[in-house]
Amino acid sequence: MDVDVLVVGAGPAGSTVAERLAHAGHHVVVVEEHARVGIPVQCAGLVSQRVLSLAESTSMVRTAVRGATVFGPSLGSVSFKAAEPRAFVIDRAGLDVHLADRAAHAGAEIRTSTRFDRLVRTEDGRSVVQLTGPSGERVELRARLVVGADGVSSAVARAFRLRRPVEILPAFEAEFPRSPGDVETVEVYLGRSISPGLFGWWIPDGQGGARVGVAVDADGTPARVYFDRLLAHLARRFGTPLANPTAFLVSGIPIGMIPRTYGPGVLLVGDAAAQVKPLSGGGIFTGMRCAQLAATVAHDALVRGDVSSTTLAAYDRAWRAELGEEFRRALYLRRVFERLNDADLDRLIAALQGSELAATIVAFGDIDFPTHVVRQLLRQSPSLVRLLPKALGAWVASGEGQVPPLEFDRRK
Ligand SMILES: Cc1cc2nc3c(=O)[nH]c(=O)nc-3n(C[C@H](O)[C@H](O)[C@H](O)COP(=O)(O)OP(=O)(O)OC[C@H]3O[C@@H](n4cnc5c(N)ncnc54)[C@H](O)[C@@H]3O)c2cc1C
Repeated sequence: MDVDVLVVGAGPAGSTVAERLAHAGHHVVVVEEHARVGIPVQCAGLVSQRVLSLAESTSMVRTAVRGATVFGPSLGSVSFKAAEPRAFVIDRAGLDVHLADRAAHAGAEIRTSTRFDRLVRTEDGRSVVQLTGPSGERVELRARLVVGADGVSSAVARAFRLRRPVEILPAFEAEFPRSPGDVETVEVYLGRSISPGLFGWWIPDGQGGARVGVAVDADGTPARVYFDRLLAHLARRFGTPLANPTAFLVSGIPIGMIPRTYGPGVLLVGDAAAQVKPLSGGGIFTGMRCAQLAATVAHDALVRGDVSSTTLAAYDRAWRAELGEEFRRALYLRRVFERLNDADLDRLIAALQGSELAATIVAFGDIDFPTHVVRQLLRQSPSLVRLLPKALGAWVASGEGQVPPLEFDRRK
């Protein structure tokens, strides 16, 4: 079979590309290895208004969140709350189904229980790929353009020899149908013994329960071990243990910028391209936005009949122009953060407890562009800068956009 575009993966990034290209009149096939789009869920489902705008729907929203409480390793905390919603907890499977439905309505063919296996050869400038269909049958398909939207372990990236992200943080999450806690506030847990390298989270699910998880930069210790420690922490905090989780999720979060997200006849989008916010591991907004940019460049390339590397490079330039600076700053701050021990983290929480700083977080906090608020906080509070390496002070004092050269290697 011949198609214009083969999209591998019916997650938010894949369905966004598929919808746009099908809408523009291209013959688009989406393959999804699972039997149902959106299942299993591998996400906490906390998103900004931007995601709802990109999806043009609020149907998947479970509840709105107005604030956050960040806990240090000794359970000292800092809280802030805005007057209006700052984020939304969504039914993540609902988002994926909604986006796949939109792609199907635009004319894309969605094939579930169908896996991309490998690139077989290139023929007349087209990629001949091998798929495995619902009954285990082998299918060959020829595509002018292949879009790898197949998530963190992207088989498309491997098949087309595009290098993978440098770091994949193991994550472990569970859903608890009942939980104490403020239904309008997410909780973030810092500490090397709970979540080295990132954080643990407690997120209200809008139905009386919570999603609890960790993502860790671990030394080979399974994320589950850290998750159990977080549960013990939460039991102390709430004065009662959380009981009867209904679903577990084990996955990975790609962190870092890969050098190339395109090649001849191929584009990578979303987690496959590591388009994930380095400070939070969130990737729905960034993946969908980059998918839109990918669709624009892909459309032009298909219309011109030129899907060469040179033409598709415009996509790589476009998404880096929009998000690259934020990612670079966030990666830098992540490295600073990784150097902090538990005592430093406790001191950081204590320093943030001033009401002025909480007001700054409320004013500048944006879950999609978190480095803005960090920079503002550091500018406002010399005591915060004193806690952190010298280079950070230089960054704060420098002009907007510059990131200081790294003065240390990652601690591993
Ligand atoms: C524990 C955890 C919590 C998270 N919480 C949040 C959050 O609160 N907010 C946020 O913004 N982000 C969050 N993320 C990140 C977010 O889930 C991802 O960034 C997002 O799902 C990326 O979308 P995507 O479309 O690129 O990939 P995915 O959603 O991973 O979709 C890829 C699709 O490709 C399919 N696929 C894979 N290989 C193949 C193949 N060979 N053939 C066919 N199909 C294939 C998969 O089945 C999947 O459906 C979280 C991640 C984790 C692990």
